[in-house]
Amino acid sequence: MPPLSRQRGGGGEANRRTHAWLERCLASHDRPDQALFGIVQGGCYPALRRESARVVAALGLPGIAVGGVSVGEPVEEMHRIVREVGPLLPDDRPHYLMGVGSLREMAVAVAHGFDLFDCVLPTRLGRHGTALVGGERWNLRNARFRHDHTPLDHGCGCLACRQHSRAYLHHLIRSGEILGLTLLSLHNLATLQRFSEAMAQAIREGCFSEDFAPWEADSPAAHTW
Ligand SMILES: [Zn+2]
Repeated sequence: MPPLSRQRGGGGEANRRTHAWLERCLASHDRPDQALFGIVQGGCYPALRRESARVVAALGLPGIAVGGVSVGEPVEEMHRIVREVGPLLPDDRPHYLMGVGSLREMAVAVAHGFDLFDCVLPTRLGRHGTALVGGERWNLRNARFRHDHTPLDHGCGCLACRQHSRAYLHHLIRSGEILGLTLLSLHNLATLQRFSEAMAQAIREGCFSEDFAPWEADSPAAHTW
């Protein structure tokens, strides 16, 4: 039987090349301390996504990633791919959605079976002086924070929120002090961790569908994490 990547119906040329790379990775993989995940590709083409999910799932890897989202396509397109591909993946191993880290998109993905995420968004926003607070994005350069001596986020226990005020963070950002960008990055990472833990708890307590999916601004989740 020929390798999966050379079988008929293997999708487009780029998909076949991706699957061939994965087979080569699998053949050379000899590190028991590393988990080799396959990556489902196929762009915005449902047939290619389905085919890629079938090929990657058949290799029996310890986890499956979905790539090629969050690369500039409209967010609705990303939601569609998540909805279509999520149910095609084997449910006995982790599903990893690559490059997604905004709250709503994470909640939508979790609702369709995804478990893992990685994203530059929290630190990229931090580097640009933006903080995630209460589901919103706050620009700490804004003059409204200049005399605001309250914590950045009352519900957050991170270093920035425990020890500094909005006014001080505003001052650091305005002065070009790298500490301000570091503190905002720490806060944004803490926010995403808290959000992820809240989703995990909601799943354990059987109220995820009610609280987080579909994500809406007035969802109870916005008040519980
Ligand atoms: Zn914080």
